[in-house]
Amino acid sequence: MSETRKQLGYLTEQLDAMRAAGTHFRLRVLDDQQAPICHYDGKEVINLASNNYLGLANHPKLIEAAVEATKKFGAGSGAVRTIAGTMRLHMQLEERIAAFKNVEACVVFQSGFAANAGTVSAILGKEDFIFSDELNHASIIDGARLSRAKIKVFRHKDVAHCEELLAEVQNEPGRKLVITDGVFSMDGDIGPVGALAGVAERYGAIMMVDDAHASGVLGRHGRGSIDHFHAHGRVDIQVGTLSKAIGSLGGYVCGSRDLIDFLYHRARPFLFSTSHPPAVPASCLAAFDILESEPDRMERLWRNTHSFKATLASAGFNIGGQNTPMSETPILPIIVGESAKAAEFSRALFDAGLMATAITYPTVAQGKARIRTIVTSEHSPETLAQAAEILTATAKKLAIL
Ligand SMILES: *Cc1c(COP(=O)(O)O)cnc(C)c1O
Repeated sequence: MSETRKQLGYLTEQLDAMRAAGTHFRLRVLDDQQAPICHYDGKEVINLASNNYLGLANHPKLIEAAVEATKKFGAGSGAVRTIAGTMRLHMQLEERIAAFKNVEACVVFQSGFAANAGTVSAILGKEDFIFSDELNHASIIDGARLSRAKIKVFRHKDVAHCEELLAEVQNEPGRKLVITDGVFSMDGDIGPVGALAGVAERYGAIMMVDDAHASGVLGRHGRGSIDHFHAHGRVDIQVGTLSKAIGSLGGYVCGSRDLIDFLYHRARPFLFSTSHPPAVPASCLAAFDILESEPDRMERLWRNTHSFKATLASAGFNIGGQNTPMSETPILPIIVGESAKAAEFSRALFDAGLMATAITYPTVAQGKARIRTIVTSEHSPETLAQAAEILTATAKKLAIL
C-alpha cells in the first residue's frame, strides 16, 4: 500500500461503516433528459426525484436560448465577474430578476449554495449573531460558520423561540441576522416568513430568506415566499436558485442597491470563482419569460401536488405531520424511520420502475429517514397513478405499509 493510501485508510473504514449500516450509495446516472419518465442506469423509470418543478430544464425555448448564446458568445466566460468575466447577459439577467422580484438590485452567483454561503459570510463577522431555523439548508449553516458569527439555532418554525433567543442578546453590540428557508427542502413545509420578519423588525435584526424551493413554485408567477406572504419590503435579503424550477443553474441574492454593490466587492464566490457560461444567463432569461407567459405550468404543478398528496395519504403512508412537519408544497416525503429501511425502499422502488431518493441521516435526523418524492407540472395523471401503485405495492412487500 502506498503512503497516501495508508494516510487515507480512515476514509475506507468510514465507507465500510456506511456499507454495514446500509446507507452507502452509488450515484444513479441519467441517460437522457431530466423528464417525468426517463432512464437511469439504462432502466426506464418514473422520475419523482428531480427539482425540475415546471419542466423548464428541457423546455425548447431554454434550449434554444442556450444554443444561440453559446454560438454567439462562446462556451465559457473566461474570468471571474470582477476581473473580465461580466458579460452583457449576466447584467441583463440580474436586472430581469430584480424587476421580477420588485427590488432595487440582484446579484447572480454560480449556485444557490454559493449565494447563501457567500452572502452570510460576507455581511457578518465574529461580533455578530445569527438566528437560524434548525432545519435550514446546509449552505446557510456553512455560510454562518464561515462568518464566525455566534450561531443561535431556534426550533423549527418556532417564532417565539427565535424571539426568546434574540431577547437574550438584545443588549449585546453585534449585528443580528434572522434567517429561514422559504420552503424547507426535506419536509416541504413553508417557513413563517411574515412572522419572523415581524420579530426581526422588533429587534432591529436583518431579515434573510432562502427561497430555493419557493422560486417558481410559490407566489404570483413563482415570485417566492415573500410574495406568498405579502411580505414585500420586510425582507432585507432574498436568496433564490436558478437550478431548480428555473431549470438551469445558479443562485441569486435580491435586495437594496448597496447590499448588491457590497456583495460585488466582498462575496468570496463572486470574487474568486468564474462566472457562468453565456448559455446559463440566456436560458434563465428565457425561463423568467415563461414563468409569466405560461402560468398553466404552475397550475398543473399544484394540481398534481394536491392529487398526489391525497392519493398517498389515502394509501396510508406517513407523509409527515406526526413527528415531522407536514408538507405544503410539491416536496412530499414518505417517512420510513430507519436509514437502512429507507435505502432499501428506494432500491426496491427503482427495481420496480420508480426513481425516488432515500434521504437519511445526517441529512435528516436519526429515525426520520424517508423517501422524498417531488411531482412536477409535467407528470401526467396516468404517470402519477402508476407511481402510486408502485409505491403501494413495494411498501407492502417491505412491510412499510
Ligand atoms: C438546493 C438548495 C440550495 C442550493 O441551490 P443550488 O442552486 O442547487 O446550489 C440552497 N438552499 C436550499 C434551501 C436548497 O434547497
